[in-house]
Amino acid sequence: MMVLTRKMIEIRTILQKVGQTGALTLPSIVVIGSQSSGKSSVLEGIVGHEFLPKGSNMVTRRPIELTLVNTPDSNVEYGEFPALNLGKITDFSHIQRTLTDLNLAVPEKDCVSDDPIRLTIYSKNVPDLSLIDLPGYIQISAMDQPEELKSKIFQLCDKYIQPPNVILAVSAADVDLANSTALRASRRVDPRGERTIGVITKMDLVDPDRGANILRDKNYPLRLGYVGVVTKLPQSGGLFSRHINVLSAITKNENAYFGQHQQFAAGENGVTVGTYSLRRKLMEVLEATMAQSLQGTSDAIHQELEEASYEFKVQYNDRPLTAETYLAESLDSFKHSFKEFTELFGRPQVRMLLKQELDQRVLDILAQRYWNKPVPDLKKARLDEHPLAELTKVDPDELYWHRKLDGSSSALTKLGIGRLATNVVANALSTQMDQLIEASTFRSHPFAKKAIQDSTNQILNERFYATSDQVENCIKPYKFEIEVDDREWNHSRENAQRLLKDELKACEDSYKKLRDQIGAKKLSSAMSFVDKIRTGKAPEMQEGAEALGFSQAMLEKGREGIFLRDRADIIKMRMLAVKSKGCATKEGKYACPEIFMDVVAEKLTSTAVLFLNVELLSEFYYNFPRELDLRLGRHLSQAQIEAFAREDPKIRKHVDLQQRKQLLELALQKMDSLMALEKSKKATGDET
Ligand code: GDP
Repeated sequence: MMVLTRKMIEIRTILQKVGQTGALTLPSIVVIGSQSSGKSSVLEGIVGHEFLPKGSNMVTRRPIELTLVNTPDSNVEYGEFPALNLGKITDFSHIQRTLTDLNLAVPEKDCVSDDPIRLTIYSKNVPDLSLIDLPGYIQISAMDQPEELKSKIFQLCDKYIQPPNVILAVSAADVDLANSTALRASRRVDPRGERTIGVITKMDLVDPDRGANILRDKNYPLRLGYVGVVTKLPQSGGLFSRHINVLSAITKNENAYFGQHQQFAAGENGVTVGTYSLRRKLMEVLEATMAQSLQGTSDAIHQELEEASYEFKVQYNDRPLTAETYLAESLDSFKHSFKEFTELFGRPQVRMLLKQELDQRVLDILAQRYWNKPVPDLKKARLDEHPLAELTKVDPDELYWHRKLDGSSSALTKLGIGRLATNVVANALSTQMDQLIEASTFRSHPFAKKAIQDSTNQILNERFYATSDQVENCIKPYKFEIEVDDREWNHSRENAQRLLKDELKACEDSYKKLRDQIGAKKLSSAMSFVDKIRTGKAPEMQEGAEALGFSQAMLEKGREGIFLRDRADIIKMRMLAVKSKGCATKEGKYACPEIFMDVVAEKLTSTAVLFLNVELLSEFYYNFPRELDLRLGRHLSQAQIEAFAREDPKIRKHVDLQQRKQLLELALQKMDSLMALEKSKKATGDET
C-alpha cells in the first residue's frame, strides 16, 4: 500500500485551499511529450478511462492537474472539478466534454494558459497518484501554429518539470530517441536522469529488436528506466469504451504483443514493458519522491505557519473570528442600537414631528388666505407706532370673516391628514434606520443593508393603509366643528407667537442670504425697479429693463427680495396683533386666525399621535427585530454567511488569515503523524 502518497495527496488538497505557494508544492508526476506521441493514450491507460480532450487541433491548452484517489470500498467511479461545483461526474464522456470546453475557453490568441484545471478521479481501479498533463510539444511549426506558440508551450512545460516533480517523458518508438522533444526537455532540467521516467509508446510500430534496444538506451540512461507500451486504444465511441476498463483492454493487447516476442521476456533482458508495469512504477517512484520531500515540505509548512501565526498575533491580537460569529455579533449590536433608538423615539418625538409638519401647512394656509394683501397704511408708519386696535379690527358678526376662518380650518382638516401623518412618521423611521445602519458594522455590507431596508419597508408598507385610515377616521369630527376652551386658546396663543417669530427669522435670514449673494446696493436698486414696475412707474417690458442694466435674473432676485420684505412686514404686524388685547381670548378668533389655526393643528396632532403610536410605531418596534432575524439570522446558508462576512475587506482579511492558519495547522498535524509513521516503518525495516 502506498500510504504515503495517499496521505500526501490529502495534505496537498489542504494546502491547495491555503493558496499554494511555491514552497508548499508537493511532488507530482508531470507528463510531457510531443503531439501525437501517445501521451493521452498513456494517461488514459493509467486511469482506465477515455476522458482527455481529443481532436486534430491542439486541444490541451491548460495544464490538467489530475489527482487519482483510490477508493477500494466503492464501486462507483467518478470525477470532480473542485473549482467548478459540478458535483460528482460518473460519466467520463461528460468529463471529457468539460475538459474540452475548459481548454477551448482559452482565447485563440493566447494559445496556452498556465492556469491549471484541477480534476480529481475517484475509483477503486486507480492508484493514488498525482499527475499533471501538459500541452504537447509542437515539432514542426505549422501554418496555424506560430513560432510563438511553440515557445509558450516550452515555457509552460519548463515551469512544471522543476524538482521535486517526477518527469514522465513520452516518446514514440518510431521516432529516433535523439529527436525526442520530451527527453531533450527533461535532459535540460534533469541532466543526470535522476527523476525522469522514459515511456516509449507505439512499440508495436518498430521491430522488436529495435524496440528492446530503445528500452535499454545507453545514450541517455535514466535511473528510473524506460517502459515500453502499446497503448493504441480500440475504436472509441462504441459500447466498448463506456463499459470496459481501458487498462484491461490495453493490458490484454500488450500481453499478446509482448508475449509474442522473446526480446521482451521478463527478467532476462532487463527491459520493462506494459502499461500495468508503468503504473506500478509510477506509484513506487511517486511514493519514494514523496518520502524524500517529507522533511522539506514539513519545514516549508512550519515556516508558512509561523508567518501566518505571527501576522495573526500582530494584526488581530490572536482574536478568533469566523463569518458566523461576525454576523451574530453584528446582528446583536445592531439590535441593541435599535432598542436604544426605540427608547428615544416615542410619542413625544412623533408628536413634535407631526406638529412641525402641520405648522408648516398652517403657515401656507395663512399666507394664502390672510396674508395675501399688504396692509396699505403700514408702509407709511412704523409698525410699533401703529394703533394696535387697527390690527384686530374685525366685525365678529360679519359672515365674511366666519367663512374665511371656516375655510382655512377645513383646508387643514381636509388635507388628507391620515396619509400625511403616516408618511411623516414612516419617513422619519426610514431615515432613522438608515442612520442606524451608517453607525453600525453593516454600513460596509450591501447585503445586510438591503435586508434592513427591506425589513423596514415591508413592515411600514404593511401598516401604512391601516394606520392612515385609522387616523383619518378619528380626526373626522374636526372637519365639521372645532371647539376651543380657554386653556387651549392660551396655549395656542403662545404657540402662534413662537411660530410667527420663527417664520420672521426665516424670512429675514433668506433676505440676508439674498443680499449677501448679489450685494446690498444691487438688490435694493433691483427691488426699487420692481417696485416701480408694480406701481406702473416703469415699463415692465424686457427691453426697458435690460436697457437700464437689469437682467431677467436680476429682476427675479428683485421680486424675491420684495416678497421676503413684504412677508416680514406682514408677519411683524401679525405678531403685534397676536400679542394685542384683541387676541387675548377665544372670542377674538376671527381676528386672530393664527391662534385658531394652531388650536386646530394641536387637536389634529394629539388625535393622530395616539393612533400612529399604536398602529405604526409599536408594531414596527415589535416586528422589526423579528423580520431582521428572518433575513439575517438562522435562515442564511453557510455560503451566504461567508459571502456576507467577505463583503467587508477588513473582515475578509481577518477570516482568511485565520483560515489559512488553521489549514496550515491541520496540514502540519497530518505531516507530523506521517513522519512519525515513516520513522517507525524505517525502524522496523532496520530491525528485520
Ligand atoms: P497525444 O497527442 O500525444 O496525446 O497522442 P494520442 O494519445 O492522442 O495518440 C496519437 C495517435 O497515436 C492516436 O491515433 C493513437 O491511437 C495512436 N497511438 C497511441 N498509442 C499507440 C500505440 O501504442 N501504438 C500505435 N500503433 N498507435 C498508438
